[in-house]
Amino acid sequence: MKNTSINLGQIDYVTIKLGTNLLTPHIETPSDYFFQLAEQIRALRVAHKKVLIVSSGAVGMGKQIVASRNVLNQNKTVTIRQKTALASIGQTTLMNTYNQAFSRYGLIPAQILISKHDLLNRQHFNTLKDTLTQLLEWDIIPIINENDAVATDELKFGDNDTLAGFIASIFDHSLLLLLTTVDAFYLKNRPVRIIRHFRESYLKYAGVSSAGGSGGMKSKLIAGKKMMISGQSMNISDGKNPQIISRLVAGELLGTWFLPQSGKTNARRRWLIHNRESLGEITVDAGAEKALVSRRASLLIFGITSVKGNFTKNQIVDIFNTENVRIGKGIVQLSAEEINQFLRETADKESLEIKYHGKEVIHADTLVVLQ
Ligand code: GLU
Repeated sequence: MKNTSINLGQIDYVTIKLGTNLLTPHIETPSDYFFQLAEQIRALRVAHKKVLIVSSGAVGMGKQIVASRNVLNQNKTVTIRQKTALASIGQTTLMNTYNQAFSRYGLIPAQILISKHDLLNRQHFNTLKDTLTQLLEWDIIPIINENDAVATDELKFGDNDTLAGFIASIFDHSLLLLLTTVDAFYLKNRPVRIIRHFRESYLKYAGVSSAGGSGGMKSKLIAGKKMMISGQSMNISDGKNPQIISRLVAGELLGTWFLPQSGKTNARRRWLIHNRESLGEITVDAGAEKALVSRRASLLIFGITSVKGNFTKNQIVDIFNTENVRIGKGIVQLSAEEINQFLRETADKESLEIKYHGKEVIHADTLVVLQ
């Protein structure tokens, strides 16, 4: 008999991301959809899983509310100012809906609106992690969305798939479910059921993002890749399927599964993998590349051939090989200026080796290989 489920290993945390097009038709007066969602979440709680929700739908709902007042011309493209205002209108209705549906099942939601900086800055990130941990300890369900009302273009995630990946990566033994209106990722018109090794060429098959939502398939695939490198699992499925959440948590072969490509990593490395920020570039020679990729070693100063950017100690930089392929990223212990100083030094090899012996530019604990 064909195997119809996969072994997901230990799962303690389930992050569920619900897309705009999935939710918007059901928000204003909570329909069966929201009640079914609440029922499924309660079942997860009964099974001792901790549940977090990343919910889109604020802008979509805001549009519907404003349209009913005839103040927004539906045929015109929405300006950024209108979009941020629409998000603040829709967000309250969205939370009202969660409140109503959840209360029927004895669940309490808590709203968290996040700006990009809250995830990229370690201190903000730790505060967020503490808040989430406390809420989950109290058996409250965090409902997270980007704080669209104040997010400027440079300072925003823009899509909740990226945000959801970040949130799922906070906790160990965590599963991410991206629930949307398509039933899988399709490669040449065929649904892909399991991805065990991510290929960059998949991105060519992502298509354009759907009307209404922001991310589309591309941001979902990128989130999947990051989860796989983090040693965690993710699934993209049609959120309208009955009992979809419990079926996925049981490992049913539905939608598209992204399975761990690497072994487990620690929380700090997972944070780095999901963090898009980079303040410079370091190119390494073939020997260093091998040490990083196959031995997961620290990056030593002798392996560096060039540096770009003006980064300082403790900032994140990308690591490239001599063919200009990005192979990883990490937190530097030396500034660009200090590394350049080393590269300029012309003293004889022996005295350089004494001076810089074992000098780590990036420690293995804060270095991630992106392959
Ligand atoms: N934050 C947006 C909203 O609530 C959705 C972003 C997305 O579609 O990924 O409307």
